[in-house]
Amino acid sequence: MGERTIRVKCIVCPLGCEITVTLRDNEILSIEGHSCSRGEKYAREEVLEPKRVLMTVVKVKGGDLPVVSVKSEKPIPKQLIFEAIRELSKVEVDAPVRIGDVIIENLLGLNVRVIATRNVEKVSES
Ligand code: SF4
Repeated sequence: MGERTIRVKCIVCPLGCEITVTLRDNEILSIEGHSCSRGEKYAREEVLEPKRVLMTVVKVKGGDLPVVSVKSEKPIPKQLIFEAIRELSKVEVDAPVRIGDVIIENLLGLNVRVIATRNVEKVSES
């Protein structure tokens, strides 16, 4: 396979440098357009092993809302996002839920915690 270039917009800081990464097969030949080493690292990861913070919801039993929003504490490999969402769709937690509560301790064996990002109150049974 020949050379190819990928353009990456750095999101590490508000400057938003446009970075060009040139590859042959899966080997990076050059990285240009970054203004600092953090941008170079970001572009390298984005091309070779892109990661994203997972944001989704999980079901809540006995709450004033049926679901609670959650996110992964760290970015996870982009190709595992759908598997992670599938895993979290099987989870149901009991109300109340507080912001920062750990919903999953070790997502897909990645050593990444999933935490609640809002409160869900318990509905009193009467
Ligand atoms: S390359 Fe550096 S200066 Fe440019 S957007 Fe990324 S972090 Fe900011």
